[in-house]
Amino acid sequence: MIIKFLGTASNGGVPQIDCRCINCERARSDEKFRRLRSCLAVSENNKDWSIIDCGPDFDRQLENLKIITQDIKSIALTHLHPDHSVGLTEFGFGKIHQVKLNVSDNLKREILDNPMFKHLIDVGFAKFVKSNIFKFVSIKHWPNHSCSAIVFGKKKKILFASDCAEIDNNLLKEMVKVDLIIFDGTFLNESKFNHLAIKESCQILKNLNKLVIFTHINHSENVQEIIDFIKQFKFKIAHDGMEVKI
Ligand SMILES: [Zn+2]
Ligand SMILES: [Zn+2]
Ligand SMILES: [Zn+2]
Repeated sequence: MIIKFLGTASNGGVPQIDCRCINCERARSDEKFRRLRSCLAVSENNKDWSIIDCGPDFDRQLENLKIITQDIKSIALTHLHPDHSVGLTEFGFGKIHQVKLNVSDNLKREILDNPMFKHLIDVGFAKFVKSNIFKFVSIKHWPNHSCSAIVFGKKKKILFASDCAEIDNNLLKEMVKVDLIIFDGTFLNESKFNHLAIKESCQILKNLNKLVIFTHINHSENVQEIIDFIKQFKFKIAHDGMEVKI
């Protein structure tokens, strides 16, 4: 399985539109500190790509990957927060490709309740599919929004949970079965806005003996501080353009 991190930021990206913090200013002056909104491209054969989450940077991310809509095998979404979903509207232009949308039953209902997304389905820009590429595990994130961890991979299993308020028993049961966990790295020190802080999640993750990569990094966070903290567990932090073969 090849995993490409097309974006590794939380909801505002780095730099964030309304921010002059030290991390955003540095990202403005040096491209290597930039992060687009969280998005993964995954493939078993380096040819057929599926996408996990598509936020506001999705058109640029597809350009970077050098593929076009027609090449996408399917798109899976964790939840409908804008940083994970509004890129779907990019399919509302041009040809009607019937992009295959792979979501949990709860998220399907939320999409059909949302006029902007429902339009894409009604016109045929996107259609729901059930496939066994992705398994959806319901997790706690935001009240009144459904949210899933997504498990994928044939030989090696990967669990992706970029937005997670709590590692409950159900999620833990899935975590012990996988080879790689890509997890919520929004905040290092303190859990906020329904994101479990890295310092708290590591207390659970360290006992699983798995490879862990943190993503969905908030602009407020000092990345070097995160690296210094997680190295004791041999965990990693994702960056845009990072590629993992497993
Ligand atoms: Zn998010
Ligand atoms: Zn900032
Ligand atoms: Zn979210």
